[in-house]
Amino acid sequence: MLGHLAALEIESRKLEPTEKNRAGLNKMAMDYADGFLDKIYTNKAYTVTSDKGRGIRGYKITEEGTGMDKLLDAIAKHVDRPGLNPASGGHLGYIPGGGVFPAALGDYLAAISNRYAGVFFGSPGAVEMENLLLDWMRDLFGFPEGTIGNLTSGGSIASLIGIVTARDARKINAGNIRNSVIYLTEQVHHAIDKSIRIAGLSECIIRRVPMDDRFRMDAGELDKLLAKDQTAGRNPFLIIGSVGTTDTGAIDPVADLAGCCKNYNCWLHLDAAYGGFFALVPGMKAQLGPLYLADSLVIDPHKGLFLPYGIGAVLVKDREAMMQSHHYVANYMQDAAREAEVVSPADVSPELTKHFRGMRMWLPLKLLGLSPFRAALEEKVLLCQYFYTEVQKIENIEVGPFPELSVLIFRYVAPDGDDNRFNELLVRYVKEDGRVFLSSTMIGSRFWIRLAVLSFRTHKDTIDLAIQVLKEGIAKIETT
Ligand SMILES: *Cc1c(COP(=O)(O)O)cnc(C)c1O
Repeated sequence: MLGHLAALEIESRKLEPTEKNRAGLNKMAMDYADGFLDKIYTNKAYTVTSDKGRGIRGYKITEEGTGMDKLLDAIAKHVDRPGLNPASGGHLGYIPGGGVFPAALGDYLAAISNRYAGVFFGSPGAVEMENLLLDWMRDLFGFPEGTIGNLTSGGSIASLIGIVTARDARKINAGNIRNSVIYLTEQVHHAIDKSIRIAGLSECIIRRVPMDDRFRMDAGELDKLLAKDQTAGRNPFLIIGSVGTTDTGAIDPVADLAGCCKNYNCWLHLDAAYGGFFALVPGMKAQLGPLYLADSLVIDPHKGLFLPYGIGAVLVKDREAMMQSHHYVANYMQDAAREAEVVSPADVSPELTKHFRGMRMWLPLKLLGLSPFRAALEEKVLLCQYFYTEVQKIENIEVGPFPELSVLIFRYVAPDGDDNRFNELLVRYVKEDGRVFLSSTMIGSRFWIRLAVLSFRTHKDTIDLAIQVLKEGIAKIETT
């Protein structure tokens, strides 16, 4: 056995590179990252390739390792090139973010030290760092002391946590589910619909509340629906509002929604995944409404704080309720439970062992300070307004509502012909051109093109370029 052990040790020690190896690997990875960033302002925002990334399938997992140089080549060719380039400032579709550089260093350091950020006992410092970030967001949005939260992988899981907590706090169960009512608009993000289903709430009565002409929930209509449901003996329990919808950046009237929640004893869940961090822009906080009136609030640092994908957040006012839904004590965790002085991420999330994602948020915020984040967010709002003005100078362009945040919709009204098809062709032209990327949406039966400005790398020249690409595209489609 000893001989076998010795042989195994020799092989397993390959998992630990020597200092020299490590230096070589570090340099290659850094050179690759530098090369990527050196070209970020000139490389395309979208690249159409014939094999669509399938080339990476050639790099199957094998017994023997492969050189780092070959692997970086493969990443460059098959992963970092085809499709959308979300790090590009030209990414003006969906909801961009970008990925600020120090966040990558935060991830690197977190992966090296591998602190156990799920439980206070394991890494009190890591958990306290995450709690510090949650307290910062709690204060930013004006929530009371005692509010707790969780750093999640994104807005979707954050919403799931909020909605599961609402379900349990309002005691929705097999006995009353079919009589219980949820209120939201047609414009909520589909992550909300998914959360409702995953939380086992599909059998509830789902009321799509009418909206005003700017796609905001009509609070008068909401009140009428609530009154009717209550009179009919039904159980209204959850109102879901959006603070910045994905299609148009619309902000539901939060104070009115909160009033309804109070009158009908409902839980208020607010989805501010896109809109929340505009609270950092001087003078914009009031525009978002009194978000602290929510029972649960979703915000997404990988959008509004320009962090790389993989970090969202949820705040919940009722600490007991959030713990009740997510806390669990297992026998093999008893040492950890005994030393629980503060709320641990594992107490308030479906996750146990998790990525120490606080580091990728804390490091950039501390290193750079808040000021450039505030400036970049304000810049995005103004850039969107600038586009709103400029795009209307193009003949036959129709725009949606004036952008409250940094998203807007517009379309080309084809003088004689099929509008939807023309706009579809236009979006395709922009994608194939690749210098900027725009996405589209259907509102009713109409095809609209969306512009979403939220990459920290998007500046005025990017918007001018987008206008130019659109003009070229329109001219080309008109002549074919
Ligand atoms: C992006 C977004 C979500 C989903 O969040 P993920 O981070 O993609 O999981 C939910 N709601 C809104 C309004 C969003 O913009």
